[in-house]
Amino acid sequence: MSERTRLEQPYRYTPVELVEPEWTRFPGWKQVTSAEWQSVQWQRAHCVKNLRQLRAVLGELVEDRFYADLERDQAERATMSMLVPPQMVNTMVPHAVPATEDLYADPIRRYMLPVFSDRRTDWPSHPHATRDSLHEHDMWVAEGLTHRYPTKVLAEMLPTCPQYCGHCTRMDLVGNSTPVIDKLRFTLKPVDRVEAMLHYLRAHPEVRDVVISGGDVANMPWARLEAFVDSVIDVDNIRDIRLATKALMGLPQHWLQDEVRAGMERLAAKARSRGTSIAIHTHVNHANSVTPLVAAATRAMLDTGIRDVRNQGVLMGGVNDDAHTLLDLCFALLDGAQIMPYYFYMCDMIPFSEHWRVSVERAQNLQHGIMGYLPGFATPRIVCDVPFVGKRWVHQLESYDKNRGISYWTKNYRTSIERSDRDALTRTYEYYDPIHTLPDAGRDWWRQHAGDVLAAAERAAKASREAAESQTSLTIG
Ligand code: SF4
Repeated sequence: MSERTRLEQPYRYTPVELVEPEWTRFPGWKQVTSAEWQSVQWQRAHCVKNLRQLRAVLGELVEDRFYADLERDQAERATMSMLVPPQMVNTMVPHAVPATEDLYADPIRRYMLPVFSDRRTDWPSHPHATRDSLHEHDMWVAEGLTHRYPTKVLAEMLPTCPQYCGHCTRMDLVGNSTPVIDKLRFTLKPVDRVEAMLHYLRAHPEVRDVVISGGDVANMPWARLEAFVDSVIDVDNIRDIRLATKALMGLPQHWLQDEVRAGMERLAAKARSRGTSIAIHTHVNHANSVTPLVAAATRAMLDTGIRDVRNQGVLMGGVNDDAHTLLDLCFALLDGAQIMPYYFYMCDMIPFSEHWRVSVERAQNLQHGIMGYLPGFATPRIVCDVPFVGKRWVHQLESYDKNRGISYWTKNYRTSIERSDRDALTRTYEYYDPIHTLPDAGRDWWRQHAGDVLAAAERAAKASREAAESQTSLTIG
């Protein structure tokens, strides 16, 4: 075949070169020095928490209609309050002075500063959307400790993060209450919660893996986090410890602090001596977020001797639902920052998330689109977190009604609330595509049946809450 007739690959790889966008392009940060930018104290003190602060950063660059759109969203739709560190604002429209339409179109803006006009008006929420869409609270075996899978648990240490993402799965618990969502609150004192978690880990030798999350562990005072991780390393049955922090990307300055580096070095050394692995799991959704500071923070953590830094992104319409965008992100992570692409979760069925969610079929096509370019060990799996089931690769479904957008899934283990449920492993569990992606007949069906679905969902949620309460009292007792 001659040069002329050789066809292009669908995706063309180009070596990654990371660039820190110039923050002085924002009127509010014209005078900010490099030393200030690299200071975690400066970053935390200058987070954007409200419209007034956003206006102070953007000055006259953006028209009033954008602020009005954002304000309406905060009042009527947002499940998360506004909190964006300068580091993340700076990755919006990264290499230009942002004008209104640029900001509207920006992928980071779309999930960190959602506006009312982003959301669907036909089906803003799916009838099956719930505040705790993964039913993690139902599976709490101690306050904040979810035991869903046979050998691993999730420890939610605190309900705050240095940044609040509009699509947060844990919107029920994490962050400040919004006009739309009154947040759940932990009731135990932190010290008692931690003790109850450690007690459970010691008493359950079948648990070998702990995800230490939140919120974001970067918001935990370092001494407290180190003491907890140190105690977890002491539990003989724990072999894997994963620290969940989006701040590695959103506030890399935190992970570059001397105190944090030295502490992580102590933990890594102790874990290694006991044959336990510590890894950091971060959450990056777009290549624009991967900057030299993110790479430096990752390098600093890998240099402490932890086993790995991995990425769990979220697949979202308008942000990254395109095979080339996902591949660009994976290469930026892998080549630019030595972060291992690991998972892309489908966005969960929380209220007002329909504009972000994609269908299972779309996710399957995206998985197909990214295969073969990355090394196999760094090819992320796109997963659907099916309520009451857990993560499933998107091709693992049992059957799929594409007309109504209902996929059916099975599982091969019991969660902590199904210990005495004989049908748990033979039942099928449902997951729902966004209704606006369905053919006309499917959309008509949902229009006719949404009321019945909502009533049935309310009955099921009540039954599940009651079952969880009785199971929890049995487990704790
Ligand atoms: S960092 Fe994670 S836990 Fe915090 S708001 Fe974002 S998605 Fe939620």
